[in-house]
Amino acid sequence: MTALGSAARPEPQSFERVLSSMCTEPHPAAREAATHFLATNPGDPDTYPAVAALEREVVSMLGDVVDHQDPTGYVATGGTEANIQAVRAARNLAATDDPNVVGPESLHFSFQKAADVLDVDLRLAPVDEDYRADVDAIADRIDDDTVLVVGIAGTTEYGRVDPIPALSDVARDADARFHVDAAWGGFALPFTDEQWNFAHADIDTMTIDPHKLGQAAIPAGGFIATDERTLDALAVDTPYLESTGQATLTGTRSGAGVASAHAALSAQWPDGYRENYETGMNLATWFAEEMRVRGYDVVSPHHPIVAVDIPTGDFEALTEAGWRLARTSAGELRVVMMPHVTRDSLAGFLADVDDLASS
Ligand code: PLP
Repeated sequence: MTALGSAARPEPQSFERVLSSMCTEPHPAAREAATHFLATNPGDPDTYPAVAALEREVVSMLGDVVDHQDPTGYVATGGTEANIQAVRAARNLAATDDPNVVGPESLHFSFQKAADVLDVDLRLAPVDEDYRADVDAIADRIDDDTVLVVGIAGTTEYGRVDPIPALSDVARDADARFHVDAAWGGFALPFTDEQWNFAHADIDTMTIDPHKLGQAAIPAGGFIATDERTLDALAVDTPYLESTGQATLTGTRSGAGVASAHAALSAQWPDGYRENYETGMNLATWFAEEMRVRGYDVVSPHHPIVAVDIPTGDFEALTEAGWRLARTSAGELRVVMMPHVTRDSLAGFLADVDDLASS
């Protein structure tokens, strides 16, 4: 056994063969800012005012990304926390004792955690043939106890955008709140024709994660709300802190995420993110075609995620070869064109696919 401190420092995972993750290399400015603000705690803004000021700016910058003039919110630990908070706010603001949340079956599993910890019934509706929320199926599951309807702007498995304006109408008709989960898609969709943000629909809350396509350091999620009422519904008194109230789910949290989100947005919005999106989309289109000509069934990419139906044996062999891969719930291989994924790395992957075919 080696004495503490004498072992060689372990290396983190290289991104070279990581094809299915929604995390990526932070932007160099984000990495630097994260280190600089590592010891600050935005959970106590009166004691750590510098990072608190940065956080207010991040929320305003995220407002630019999601087309909201005057957003409120905070930098969460990630999409999971932001989604839990959206459900929590809706539950706390509603009058019912038996609340339910309605969304498509493509919802991220963080909503199952939300339903579990908040004791809310989660009702999932089937998606249409293009993996998008079916508005009629959602409407069928809504009743007087529905406190929240959820739509996704960039699904985890196929990168699809639900019909956000129609879902918002359905939520309003039912007097329910409406949440959009743009955890992954939020930094891609501004460069598309998709109708996904506050300019297109009546949205109460949104998740948009700087630590995914925003290229901030982990942990940096974004919880955006249209009004202070939402944060009030989440806030508790914090008697022993210098600051006297807290709306976040976590208590102490890392200023690294806040500062790195600020640095990444300052460096990249909008041109850097546009470039990332265009590069990712070109790679997705090219890779999808390369897999198709090799005889695989491919789910056409609308955004930079490609799902490919490959046999289990091939999936396992490629994993053995060191590729870090994940599958959709239907079993397809899923490749997410994050900024670290290059044409060279995909060419290496395709060469391994060809080796499998010839062996
Ligand atoms: N929402 C969507 C659409 C996601 O794709 C993810 C993660 O991939 C999340 C929420 C959860 O985000 P996190 O892992 O940062 O908590």
